[in-house]
Amino acid sequence: MDLTIMQYFEWHSPDDGEHWNHLSKEAAKIKGQGFDAVWLPPPTKADHPSNPGYAAYDVYDLGEFDQKGSVRTKYGTKEQLQNAINACRETGLLVYLDLVMNHKAGGDEKETFKVVEVKEDDREEEIREPFDIEGYTYFDFPGRQGKHSDFKWNFNLFTGVDYDAKEERNGIFRIMGEDKDWSDNVDAEHGNYDYLMYADINYAHPEVQEEMIRWGKWLSDELDADGYRIDAAKHIDSNFIKRFIDEVAEHAGRDIYFFGEYWNPSLEANEDFLDDVSFDIDVFDVRLHYNFYTAGLEKETYNLTQIFDGSMVAENPSNAVTFVDNHDTQPGESLESFVADWFKQPAYSLILLRQDGYPCVFYGDYHGISGDHKVDGKRDEIDVLLDIRKKLAHGNQKDYFDHPDTIGWIRFGGEHTTGSGCAVVISNGLEEGFKKMHVGEIRTGEKWVDHTGNRADEITIDEEGNGVFYADSQSVSVYGKKMD
Ligand code: CA
Repeated sequence: MDLTIMQYFEWHSPDDGEHWNHLSKEAAKIKGQGFDAVWLPPPTKADHPSNPGYAAYDVYDLGEFDQKGSVRTKYGTKEQLQNAINACRETGLLVYLDLVMNHKAGGDEKETFKVVEVKEDDREEEIREPFDIEGYTYFDFPGRQGKHSDFKWNFNLFTGVDYDAKEERNGIFRIMGEDKDWSDNVDAEHGNYDYLMYADINYAHPEVQEEMIRWGKWLSDELDADGYRIDAAKHIDSNFIKRFIDEVAEHAGRDIYFFGEYWNPSLEANEDFLDDVSFDIDVFDVRLHYNFYTAGLEKETYNLTQIFDGSMVAENPSNAVTFVDNHDTQPGESLESFVADWFKQPAYSLILLRQDGYPCVFYGDYHGISGDHKVDGKRDEIDVLLDIRKKLAHGNQKDYFDHPDTIGWIRFGGEHTTGSGCAVVISNGLEEGFKKMHVGEIRTGEKWVDHTGNRADEITIDEEGNGVFYADSQSVSVYGKKMD
């Protein structure tokens, strides 16, 4: 069966500590809407109760200890999280957790250590002689009192920081030490992209590796998730990621699904990473997202035949998680590149109705976005596609990507599903578009209608098994056999 993920949060999900409770109540409904898995936000304690979780403070605090202003995380307590996971399990929803392993935020105490300052856009270029700074690199988690782990962090276990408390100055400061440097096994942007933010974890240190793997196994014991999303994967030593995947999966003793945020639209960079980790992980199709973004902006001047160009799903389909938008690309956030309103439904058809890719629907697209940049959800528009995905979008696929303004494809239907199969047409032109496509001679005489409801045509499949299918200007239509 073709599975579908829901990203069950947006950046401005309420910080009232009710998110896990909300999931408990909604789990059965989410499953009923056609989702098979939920990707949850980081379960670990951040540096502030309102932080979405990416400013990770203590990975052993799942909302259990009074630290950083509250017992709960932004999303609730550990017990509420466990209840939510149980509710998902009872209804058959898979649970994927977001793991923030690149950095730590909100250090408990300052330390003094020697650094070399490097250039923001070239981290291999040193711009000053080494000097001493004060950084928040000491973590002893006083609120947890050594429960679950007595490991304490100090500056030796980090590669760099971005704040000098002594001079009250920001910069990128590489922490000096014997044989210590940025990792070689990270993305190559900015000379070396090991450093992203906060105190960057030094995975070259054997004690760090042991501790983080011990944590991964502990987390698997505590929550028994079905999968994990590795946040900021391009900034983490890929050899460590490989080791983490192997050891945590072996410890769990069952299939664990790993997917990673390798935020680089370059196919080559993604494939180098996949090669490093023996293809044991899927990656978000970042290039496809940017293609959607560009298509949305350029409207009728975009050449739709290029929509899959350079994408992971085209080149490496078995490792691609396809998505339209996420919590970082939504308006006002760090990677803002929100797909245009008119192109949302066409973009969702391009991930939900295809043979390849593991599609992920964004909470913000489905239910809407709150905060300063409010956006209405498109639940009805996405629901019809989820329904078509389950009922019609089966079997082999044939593409008709032959006109810059109008593209289409056929799903021929599954062998054992009567009446399945569909014809999809997307147009970005200023006028309606149409496409003559072959759906099969055995379909001759069938009446096909647009199940999205966007068009009212009734198309009769001709004697040769062809149909002429229309889409409105800047819209999508999905035809399938008329249901009685
Ligand atoms: Ca790093």
